[in-house]
Amino acid sequence: MASPTPFALAAAAGGPSLLVRQLFDPETSTFTYLLADVPSRQGVLIDSVYEQHPRDLSLIRELGIHLVASLDTHGHADHVTGSWRLHRATGCAIGLDAVAGAENVTLPLRHGDQVTFGGRHLEVRATPGHTDGCLCFVLDDHSVAFTGDALLVRSCGRCDFQQGDASTLYHSITEQILSLPDHCLLYPAHDYSGRAVSSVAEEKACNARLGGEADERDFVGYMENLHLPHPNRISIALPANLRSGRPADGGLEEADDWGPIERSYAGLPELTADWVADHRDELTLVDVRSESEVQGPDGRIPGSLLIPLPELERRAGEIPTDRPTVVLCHSGSRSGSRSALATQQLQKKGLTRVANLRGGIRAWKAQGLPLEYSSVTPSGP
Ligand code: FE
Repeated sequence: MASPTPFALAAAAGGPSLLVRQLFDPETSTFTYLLADVPSRQGVLIDSVYEQHPRDLSLIRELGIHLVASLDTHGHADHVTGSWRLHRATGCAIGLDAVAGAENVTLPLRHGDQVTFGGRHLEVRATPGHTDGCLCFVLDDHSVAFTGDALLVRSCGRCDFQQGDASTLYHSITEQILSLPDHCLLYPAHDYSGRAVSSVAEEKACNARLGGEADERDFVGYMENLHLPHPNRISIALPANLRSGRPADGGLEEADDWGPIERSYAGLPELTADWVADHRDELTLVDVRSESEVQGPDGRIPGSLLIPLPELERRAGEIPTDRPTVVLCHSGSRSGSRSALATQQLQKKGLTRVANLRGGIRAWKAQGLPLEYSSVTPSGP
């Protein structure tokens, strides 16, 4: 597949110059946001989740976005941030409230700062109360705000640990968030009921804790009587987030440590032809084209194992398990190709070290890598 172009990003953005994507982690009900300035292709990610790193990185790469920073609205108690993994993969900055004092932060943020990505920027607004280091990120034109856990849809973050304070939160919400224009869209860090977005006008009128006629005394009384259970991941999440998500053991291990795997947004593991060629002796190459194609003018990669896709289910046991497997077909594209389907089939059969050859035989041939031919006269290389 060709590398993404600015046009691809513009198309994904649907025309406007700003791309906004809301992603969701069902395990922790966390929303992650990707913003990108289409003309410059620069972007930021807000509130990433450690376990969702492969998904987030794939989307950033597929759209050809240069990630400027991975930002967190606060030190989360319910999930570990993916910031350190993103920093390691892309070189992006790690942004968090300076108050948090976390390790590995390269962009300590304070109220009034701006985070610039291409021609756009986010305003940084301090919104303490849920924690003492909560930030809200407001888009430059005040059309969108990312409220973290300070203000949720019809709700708000708890105030009973991490230096939380209900009165402080009330002032943060009313003075820094609900003071934005009524039409400003509000995107929360969490929702447990599928509510993805709200607006200033909606929350002013309908927020269950401070909307309508509720005043500070009502809000504080509400918050002090919630009696919520402790988050079940807090003992893991807080110390990990004080390292910006870097694992305690240094975290240099990855599940895909046998090769420079890149996963498509759809989750397909892929390797490039030149890497596969360089490591040919350490891999099993499985060619899933038909017999006639393999005999034809495209040729075959020397030493590859031929198992046509319709026979793969039955013959998967022929594939050695002592080395990684790379699957190939003619096109090797990440959507709709036979090798993409074959890769998924082999994963279902329990192979963990398996990847698609990106671009298939076509990419192999285009790079002048060795092929062998059967009975017909080769057309190249
Ligand atoms: Fe939180």
